[in-house]
Amino acid sequence: MRVEIDKQSGFCGGVIRAIGTAERFLDEHGGSLYSLGAIVHNEEELARLNSLGLETISIADLPELASASEQKTLLIRAHGEPPAVYQQVSSLGFDLIDCTCPVVLGLQKQIREAYARTKPAGGKVIIYGKEGHPEVLGLVGQVDGDVIVVQTTAQLEALKAVDEFAFDRPVELFSQTTMSPVGYEAIAEYLASKMPESLLLIHRTICSQVASRHKQLVEFARSHDVIVFVAGSSSSNGKVLYDLCKKENARTYHIGSPSEIDPAWFLTSDFVGICGATSTPKWLLDQVASAISRL
Ligand code: SF4
Repeated sequence: MRVEIDKQSGFCGGVIRAIGTAERFLDEHGGSLYSLGAIVHNEEELARLNSLGLETISIADLPELASASEQKTLLIRAHGEPPAVYQQVSSLGFDLIDCTCPVVLGLQKQIREAYARTKPAGGKVIIYGKEGHPEVLGLVGQVDGDVIVVQTTAQLEALKAVDEFAFDRPVELFSQTTMSPVGYEAIAEYLASKMPESLLLIHRTICSQVASRHKQLVEFARSHDVIVFVAGSSSSNGKVLYDLCKKENARTYHIGSPSEIDPAWFLTSDFVGICGATSTPKWLLDQVASAISRL
């Protein structure tokens, strides 16, 4: 059995930057560092970082930690946070390490600017994204939640029916950085088919690292007999990319760690491809490849 790891799989730039910053801090200062939410949606990598001193906390933990702990440094992950969270963190006296990805920071700014343009004209900002996803919470928080978040054209039609937005008023469309380019195109085409061109502004905000991975993964999935897709169960990007591989190659299997590999998936003549999400560490892909090679 031949085994190949997808060269483009592994952390995106934003996650590499956040994890590198946390590791440097812990190396230089020792002790512990709080991360507001999981720094990466991968249980195996979180366990590794936790052993170095990175503790994942939630917003609800902040008041108690602020009063109980001497060490009060808090890391904001690549997804970013809404302004209200920055205010709360600073009022509680935490030192802040802001690892919001520069691409996400740019998107937050674009949304504030689009809101300032559309709101006075009775228009709307629409975000193609996953409701409740941390990056989306950070985006909608830029404008006090006064935006529409959808994943399907059916949702848009339902919102149009109750006058949440209008085809004769300005609309500016954005995407969460990790969404499917194909899904975004469907939303963009739907709006373009209903609205005058002059009233619709479509912003291309899917991260270029994600968009190029979509194209390349289609080829990767087609050129292998079996695909083993490695991603944490809470990775939204992992879900999207797994679905993409499964569509191209029916013999695609999703695992979180090498212990979930089932030998029954493979024939000795198979060429096996191993790939993952923007939150899957390279060391985990290597472990999976070794485990399959030993079968
Ligand atoms: S997917 Fe792109 S935009 Fe999102 S955190 Fe990673 S590098 Fe930044």
